[in-house]
Amino acid sequence: MDTIRADFPILHQKVYDKPYVYLDNGATTQKPKVVIEAVKNFYEQTNSNIHRGVHLLSEKSTEQYEQARSMVAEFIHANSTNEIIFTKGTTDSINLVAFSFGEKYIVANDEIIVSEMEHHSNIVPWQMLCERKQAKLKVLPFDDNGELCIEKLDELITKRTKLIAVTHVSNSLGTVNPIAEIVKIAHAKGVKVLVDGAQAIQHTAIDVQALDCDFYVFSGHKIYAETGIGVLYGKEKLLNEMPPYQGGGDMIKEVTFEKTTYSDLPLKFEAGTNNYVAAISLGEAINYVQAIGIETIAAHENKLVQYASHKLGTIDGLRIYGTATNKVSVISFLVDNIHHYDMGMMLDKMGIAVRTGSHCTQPVMAHFDITGTVRASFAFYNTKEEIDRLYDGIIRIKKIFA
Ligand code: PMP
Repeated sequence: MDTIRADFPILHQKVYDKPYVYLDNGATTQKPKVVIEAVKNFYEQTNSNIHRGVHLLSEKSTEQYEQARSMVAEFIHANSTNEIIFTKGTTDSINLVAFSFGEKYIVANDEIIVSEMEHHSNIVPWQMLCERKQAKLKVLPFDDNGELCIEKLDELITKRTKLIAVTHVSNSLGTVNPIAEIVKIAHAKGVKVLVDGAQAIQHTAIDVQALDCDFYVFSGHKIYAETGIGVLYGKEKLLNEMPPYQGGGDMIKEVTFEKTTYSDLPLKFEAGTNNYVAAISLGEAINYVQAIGIETIAAHENKLVQYASHKLGTIDGLRIYGTATNKVSVISFLVDNIHHYDMGMMLDKMGIAVRTGSHCTQPVMAHFDITGTVRASFAFYNTKEEIDRLYDGIIRIKKIFA
């Protein structure tokens, strides 16, 4: 653990003169030295725009960018690099599909299903699509443990259902959803499935072919890479059928004022200068994760969640939201009638960073009739001692409020 923590410079500082405890990994993860140095080295030695120049550094940049694409493809077990589109992030990937798939396949009175536990970024783009096309948004509910009511899916799907958009892991409850099962039910009725992997990619091994999902999306910054890069995986046949999302450089074959022809995959969906440096940092981050092993990471994080659930669970008046049998990385809670903001601000003064509020999942808060929670979310560099600090902090705050 000491070696792993040594890889993350930001963890070794004091805030308010206290050792920093970073438990907001669901919002973004910290970056290991190898990623930070790769970015610095790239700017110092290689930087040139990709897919444009014939000069050496442009070729090297392009090579590294395409290498990062191959690494992503391998990491999630895609069939081909044509299925990996670099975007700005999860939100951008979902908007791309909502626009492009929507343009091609959605007509008035069609239906799209989202789950009740989606992040706003997996709700709003579909609502906007439904408004544009006069289609209908339907909701798959979850129960009070935070588990999806899969048994209701069969009756929710009708002949008009075109797509189900569902999160792999809930960012506010930690629930791991049974994606393969959902895909099976959907595909039996000819319905496509988009999976939001923003909170799964850093915690579990992903095999898009085994899941058989049609789209899988995630953000680089949640898996130890820079901000500004994301991935859209899509089955090649579908991506080929879908129209471009944005027009511009890189996504064209030939432009005349009469007619423009588009690039083949994956560039068809990558208009303009993409954040190629962040893509390269994603390749580095994946390398780093693979060197440690995603299974090793998952095992440590699972121990942390179990330890935290048990330890925080002993605090009188503490209520945990999200008690699914299969959950990872996240503990959402409230204590007595202490407001989540007060709890978060007081923990901050003790050097402990947690997230407070609705976590961009207002419908989840509405389900429990609350305005927000305190969320501690873990990465593999967190320790039991940090959870003990959180526990001690909560006990102190409880006393102050009493
Ligand atoms: N979906 C989920 C489940 C998330 O946790 C997040 C980030 N909090 C997003 C989507 C959006 O990711 P981004 O802001 O990187 O686009």
